[in-house]
Formats: sequence, structure tokens, C-alpha cells
Amino acid sequence: MSPSTWEAVIGIEIHAQLLTRTKMFCGCALSFGDPPNTHTCPVCLAHPGALPVVNREAIRLAIIAGHALGCEISGSSVFSRKNYFYPDLPKAYQISQYDQPICGRGRFRYLTEGGEKTLGITRAHLEEDAAKLIHLGGEGRRANADSSVVDFNRGGTPLLEIVTEPELHHGSDAAAFLKQLRQTLVHLGITDGSMEQGSMRADANISIRPVGSTGLGTKTELKNMNSFTYLERGIAAEVERQIGVVESGDVVTQETLHYEPATGHITSLRSKEEAHDYRYFPEPDLVPVVPDRAWVEELRAELPELPIDRRERWIRDLGLTFEDAEVLSEPAELGDYFEQVAALAPPKSAANWVRGDLRAQLRERGQEPWDSEVSPEAVAQIIELVESRAISMPSAKSVLAEVIETGGQPRAIVAEQGLGSIQDESALVAIVDTLIANNPAQAEQLRDGKDKLVGFFVGQAMKATQGRADPERIGQLIRERVAAG
Ligand SMILES: [Zn+2]
Repeated sequence: MSPSTWEAVIGIEIHAQLLTRTKMFCGCALSFGDPPNTHTCPVCLAHPGALPVVNREAIRLAIIAGHALGCEISGSSVFSRKNYFYPDLPKAYQISQYDQPICGRGRFRYLTEGGEKTLGITRAHLEEDAAKLIHLGGEGRRANADSSVVDFNRGGTPLLEIVTEPELHHGSDAAAFLKQLRQTLVHLGITDGSMEQGSMRADANISIRPVGSTGLGTKTELKNMNSFTYLERGIAAEVERQIGVVESGDVVTQETLHYEPATGHITSLRSKEEAHDYRYFPEPDLVPVVPDRAWVEELRAELPELPIDRRERWIRDLGLTFEDAEVLSEPAELGDYFEQVAALAPPKSAANWVRGDLRAQLRERGQEPWDSEVSPEAVAQIIELVESRAISMPSAKSVLAEVIETGGQPRAIVAEQGLGSIQDESALVAIVDTLIANNPAQAEQLRDGKDKLVGFFVGQAMKATQGRADPERIGQLIRERVAAG
């Protein structure tokens, strides 16, 4: 196999369940985890004569998403019937959009470790989700099931399908794109973005071509990857499979595939349908959607700062690394909290404390910074105490633990518990001299150049002072006194 002579061409399709209160074409409530078939009505059960009505909130969310994707918002968009039979689709057609989607071409900016990149958006359209099939027996898999039942609660849930141009060449970029997209949609309140629970699902269209060629090979579709890692690995596995097929003299056939994360295997689900197989035609029960232009522009003007802009601002203005910015931007509440600390303390220190000790200590209690007793002011105060050397790092960690416990003020805690650094130089010298006298063998080795014994003495000094000595100063004193002795 010679991947260097082949180039992968990848496009992504994303389905995101919208965070509306009710379904796409009826007044049934959206529900997750409620008893089966408790949110149904004649419309979503496809009783004869029941008529759909478009959910205005779904339109609003689609337009906001369109703005964030850099898409043109259509002046008039049309719902179409996509005809196929499956037990989870009671009408035997899905109401979707075909040639006139609500969001047309766009370009989405996403951040990678190598900087900002963009990916062309072909379209984004509204449609309804199918119901949920539950397979009984056979470990819940369709193939070995004794029987299957249908829960219609999910049937009719509003979905936004986003289709990208086939412009990606690496699974890592596909994952970075999907991460940024998910973060953006969640931040804007468009979807809850849960990939594990299937409220956001990604498919990848994959083909290969010789490096340097511009044509497109036959593509396969890898379905329903439910994590960023699986998307990246699934793409790598499929690209490798296609290269193997072509290099053994065979041709790639158009089909829908499943990637099994546990084994890394790719299996065929079915041969891929063409659009004409679905007999799309305009939905006769719905008028075109013609959103008011002023409303569309108002939604554009109301867009908050997008996550990518926030992350780029932190890297540019606050000196954060790509990784700091990535960790701190998710979820948005953590980013808000970090910004409050960074307004009061050096931003890099704020980043280290918020994503490091603060989050780690809180997690042990099942808490997050923004719902804890620890105010951003308290974190800034701890940083100030450490950086002015008023307290040592080990003391800072116990002060933080105390703040988490009691919600108190760091300065007051330091004063009450006598945690302030020992500033008195003669006291420090006395401690060091005692340690040297009590550990003559180690002192001798240090004198002979075994420098790592400095660490031993610093450790002893921290123990003797309950962490109230400045380790750096102790290290200096040890060297001086040993050399002098
Ligand atoms: Zn309904």
C-alpha cells in the first residue's frame, strides 16, 4: 500500500436534533427517556387526513445556524417528500427539503492546532426524524432480534441536516471541523449536541484519487459515527480499505458502510441509493417558507460572539495556547468563568488554575467552577498570593481546598491558619542548617556534586515547615550553606 500516491476526498453530513419544545410538524412535546409512545398524535402517526404545520421555532433555529455557517438564507424554501418504506416511518415518506433548502451555500471557519481553516457548506435543510426501532432479544441488534417494536416519540423531531463540500483530505481535519461545529451549535442553543445519545450524528462521504488529479472517485458513505475519535479512525480505516481495493486491481463500489469502533472493521449496510430513487416531490400540504427579511437580518445581528472567535481572541490577546483555549471554551460556562478570573489576574495563570487545580479539586466533589462556592475573585486572590510569594504552591492548594469547603476568602484563610510563607531569612537559614546537620551523608554527596539531592533537602524543608517555605529560596540556601560548610 502506498498512501503517498493517493489523496482522500471527504465530505461530512451532520444531523442535529433541534432544541425546540415541540415536534417539526405537530404540537407533540419532544421527550427523551419518557415511556414509549406517550408523545404522539394523528399527524406524527400519519393518520389519514392529518395535516402538518411547520414549527416556527425550528425555522428560527435553522436561520441562526445558517448565519453561523456563513450560509445564504433562502428567500423561499420548500419542503419535499422523500419517499421510502421503513417501519420507523409511518407515512412511508419523510418530509425533508430537496432543491430549495432553507440555508444555501456557505463557508464555516474552524480552528485546528495549525491555525484557522475553512470548509465549504453545500446546504443546510430542515427535516423530521424517524421513530425509533427497538430490537428485542439478540442483544438488541437487528440481525439476531426475535422481534422489533417501534417507539414513535422520536418520530417527527426537527432535524437540521448540514452537508459540506468534499474539500477535506484528512480525518483529523474532519474531527476538528465537527468539534467546532458542535461547539458552535451548542453555544447558540440549536442542539444539545450529545453524540452519545444520538442528538448529533455524523456521516462521512469518502473517495480517493491519485495525488495531483482533480476528478472525484466513487464515494462510499460511512454512517453514524458518534464520536470525534471514531470519525477520525473510521475515515482512516475506509481510506486504507479503498486504497487496498484499487491497488489490487478492483474498483470501489458506491455503498453505505458501518464502522465498528471495537474491532476497526468496516461492513457494508446496503448499496447506496441515488436521489432519484426517493421520488422527491414538493410537499403538497405545506406552503413554501418565506422568512421575513428583516427578521432574518435581526437574527444575524443578534448572533453572539462565536466560539471560534472567542478562542482566537484568547490565543491572540491573552497569550493562551491552542490547547488552553480548546479546553477552556467547553462548555461556555467554563469560558465565562475563566474570563472573569483573567480579568483580575494574569491570563496564563488564570488558565492554568481554572483548567488545572481548581477543576481537578472540584471534580472530586462532582462540582464545576461555575456552580461552586469558589468565586472568580477568590481564584484571582490565590494567584496573587502565589505570584507575590506570600504563600507557597503547596499552601495555595490547601487554601483552595479550604475555599471550596467554606467559600471563604483566601487572604483571610492564610491569616487565620498561619499559612503565609516564612519570609524571615534567618529562620530559613536555621531550618536549612538543621537539615544539613541531621543528614550529613546526603550533605556530603551534594557537596560532591550529586545535585539531585537538592530535591531531597527541599522536600525535607517543606515537611518541616508544613509547606510554608518558598521551595526556590530553600534550594538556593541549601546550595549556599552546603558549599560554605
Ligand atoms: Zn404529533
